[in-house]
Amino acid sequence: MHVMVLGAGVTGVTTAWFLHQAGLEVSLVDRQPGAGRETSFANGGQISISHPEPWANPAAPWLALRWLGREDAPLKIRPAFDPAQWRWATSFLHECLPWRTRRNTEAIAALALFSGERLRAVREKTGIEYEQRMTGILHLFHTAREFAHAPARASTLRKLGIPVEVRSRPECLALEPALAGRPDGIAGGLYAPDDESGNAQRFTEALAARLGEMGVRLHWNTEIRQLAVSGSRIEGVNVRDVMGRKGMLSADAFVVCLGSYSGKLLRPLGQRVPIYPVKGYSITAALAAPERAPVVSLTDESRRVVCSRLGDRLRVAGTAELAGFDTTIRPERIKPLLEWARAHFPGAIDEAQVTPWAGLRPATPSNLPLIGRSHAENLWLNTGHGTLGWTLACGSAAALTLLIQGEKPPVAFPFQR
Ligand SMILES: Cc1cc2nc3c(=O)[nH]c(=O)nc-3n(C[C@H](O)[C@H](O)[C@H](O)COP(=O)(O)OP(=O)(O)OC[C@H]3O[C@@H](n4cnc5c(N)ncnc54)[C@H](O)[C@@H]3O)c2cc1C
Repeated sequence: MHVMVLGAGVTGVTTAWFLHQAGLEVSLVDRQPGAGRETSFANGGQISISHPEPWANPAAPWLALRWLGREDAPLKIRPAFDPAQWRWATSFLHECLPWRTRRNTEAIAALALFSGERLRAVREKTGIEYEQRMTGILHLFHTAREFAHAPARASTLRKLGIPVEVRSRPECLALEPALAGRPDGIAGGLYAPDDESGNAQRFTEALAARLGEMGVRLHWNTEIRQLAVSGSRIEGVNVRDVMGRKGMLSADAFVVCLGSYSGKLLRPLGQRVPIYPVKGYSITAALAAPERAPVVSLTDESRRVVCSRLGDRLRVAGTAELAGFDTTIRPERIKPLLEWARAHFPGAIDEAQVTPWAGLRPATPSNLPLIGRSHAENLWLNTGHGTLGWTLACGSAAALTLLIQGEKPPVAFPFQR
């Protein structure tokens, strides 16, 4: 069976990898000249199994109201006359109900644990290097009030099978001495020793190169315009190359891994998927003083910023903006990330060598990706990974491969059936 994977971000490339490992004939199509060039390009770098809690939680609507009108707010909503945006926001509110949040957290935790295991297996098999660090993730709390919730959160995570430890302020500083430069203190933290970090784009590119060497057909610079439908099946995809030449690519089955753009392809089939782009930003800075920069990946729970050391650079990422498909880099959204790096690690980064970036998280209201069947017989979905696409990629791809083979993935997750 020939399976064509549509989209070569981290989700598409891992999907192609697991399908190929299962002995299927695979090809990969993307409009970019290589793999991992859109949302998977400069994300926060975290394999954050210890953060299964979705954005949609009982506190989220109040926080969003508090942040309204603030240009530098962690969540910025730019209301548009866009029914998709309103539909998404309404569903998001529904997912904030306590029992929905609980159910979503459990499903993400199960998939994330499976994914961590599958990522380690890919690494062992391929030996690819992607600036990975197995030094865990330290979640930081700035106020005693926020830190007071840490033991309860740790106990919930442990019940889900995720190892985490509550760490006092001195223990946080011992774990990550570079934090000692922070003037106004850290109340404490939660440490997840099994979490990891790494460069998602490098991983994706290296894995795609490996697939190419193994004979997988890689169609770069190929824009997917439309699905060619025949009855209840997909015959092929209508594509156009950079020269404007049109054609059709055929296969026996297809997998949609188009991130935020998945809905556009599926709409003509009459399938409306609840994926909306939630824009995020990052900066990647060369290090001026490596000894002042952290080596442990950090999640600042108070400021909603994540930070990962990638080789001799520091990546700082965060912020969420509901602004449609606009990928313009707004200086007022980059500024808080730069200020965060300055305040936490004074003198660590070279401010003359900072690369800003913005990407569109393919977000579902629940933050659960859509993995499994679509409305068409031979079309499968692996998309909508929102805030955790890098963390969930290998598990989602392995699970989808089992579903395509008619097997049940060993994960308690609501797959699309
Ligand atoms: C600021 C920020 C920080 C983040 N930090 C983290 C983190 O620390 N950890 C984590 O787990 N996740 C993180 N994420 C989320 C993660 O980056 C995404 O969930 C993930 O990259 C989504 O991968 P994808 O393959 O689904 O989408 P993409 O990487 O966007 O891939 C989709 C592919 O489809 C292609 N495509 C789309 N339309 C077409 C078309 N019509 N024709 C041909 N090709 C097409 C694109 O070119 C692209 O290559 C972060 C995201 C952001 C924005």
